[in-house]
Amino acid sequence: MLTPDFYNINDLLTPEQQLIASTVRDFSDREIKPIIEDYAQRAEFPLHLIKKFGELGVFGPTIPAEYGGGGLDYISYGLMCQEIERGDSGMRSTVSVQSSLVMWPIYEFGSEEQKQKYLSRLASGELVGCFGLTEPDHGSNPAGMKTRISKTENGYLLNGAKMWISNAPFADIAVAWARDEKGKVRGLIVERGMAGFTTPEIHNKWSLRASATGELVFDHVFIPEKNILPNASGLKAPLQCLDKARYGIAWGVIGAAMDCYETAVKYAAERIQFDKPIGAFQLTQKKLAEMLTEITKAQLLAWRLGTLMNDGRATTTQISMAKRNNVAMALNVARECRQILGAMGISGEYPIMRHMMNLESVITYEGTHDIHLLILGAEITGIPAFK
Ligand code: FAD
Repeated sequence: MLTPDFYNINDLLTPEQQLIASTVRDFSDREIKPIIEDYAQRAEFPLHLIKKFGELGVFGPTIPAEYGGGGLDYISYGLMCQEIERGDSGMRSTVSVQSSLVMWPIYEFGSEEQKQKYLSRLASGELVGCFGLTEPDHGSNPAGMKTRISKTENGYLLNGAKMWISNAPFADIAVAWARDEKGKVRGLIVERGMAGFTTPEIHNKWSLRASATGELVFDHVFIPEKNILPNASGLKAPLQCLDKARYGIAWGVIGAAMDCYETAVKYAAERIQFDKPIGAFQLTQKKLAEMLTEITKAQLLAWRLGTLMNDGRATTTQISMAKRNNVAMALNVARECRQILGAMGISGEYPIMRHMMNLESVITYEGTHDIHLLILGAEITGIPAFK
């Protein structure tokens, strides 16, 4: 069962989707929640979870079973993201990257040989991938990318650098994006061990501390022709990947909000001040009532978007609206819950501050809060306001 579930969203789910949600929630309770605070405090990714994620089936759930994926629908994928992120946004980030930004582009744009070589090994967690689009000087505007490939015998030479890449420090492969000599954006699979390819870790993060973030540095890396994604041409290809990942985020952050909300409801019933539980005060009730309302609205947005995804009708702007709304909702819920817990709200004894700090990254990555607003503004007016 989903909790909270004020509008009986559970009734909108198939028995299979309900089972997926409860199975992944049990996994989060058993495997993520008991260890994650410690890993976050030490700024370390719990590498042992990779194989467990593979066994659970959260890597590539929408990829057809013939390639090792789950062959499931998009609401199932969304529920998986939600229940993993109830544990930690960094863990959901790893699931999103592997599923939507590594497996999906290989499935969608890759050759049959590439699909056979990588997909089932990524699904099982034998291999981990990362996705390199952002560069030190080009974040919101990936069209400005400087990373280049130039033709050489039997392949290409890759030069450039990517920045802020989730999973980079331990990834076995990177799906990276670079311009060719004609200026066209191409997708390529870079493998750890290729000469000239390094992945230095980015330290000192106050957010997503249990997720490993790094750079991808390409110094004359030889990329054989067979590692180029043959069907990806133009910036549209990486942007299509981002649509898939942003969809998962729109669901995932609801899980973080749910975890904060449930923690705060329990705390408000137990914490006594002025001889009453703090949940008896109107101001606390206002906070809780507004949070439940916002969580419920976000659930409905995500569920409807999931049905549109299943029909192949979801648009980029619809996905932008859900990502933007739901991340901001989760961040606001986390901030309000932190206040309800008073001083305890800043302690690692409770998950709230970790969720809150994590969500500060989630509101920036995969298109910032403001960029998604501008995407919607361009759709409404027909006038892009980016430049
Ligand atoms: P900038 O683009 O420099 O933006 C800075 C500010 O300016 C923002 O508030 C933005 O909204 C605003 N702004 C920019 N342009 C405009 C405009 N036209 N109008 C109004 N305001 C504007 N990237 C990957 O490729 N792969 C990953 O795996 C990945 N993982 C990440 C993990 C973490 C923890 C983080 C923090 C980031 C990750 N990113 C990843 C990068 C992320 O996608 C970028 O940080 C994001 O796109 C924003 O780019 P930027 O940080 O360069 O900010």
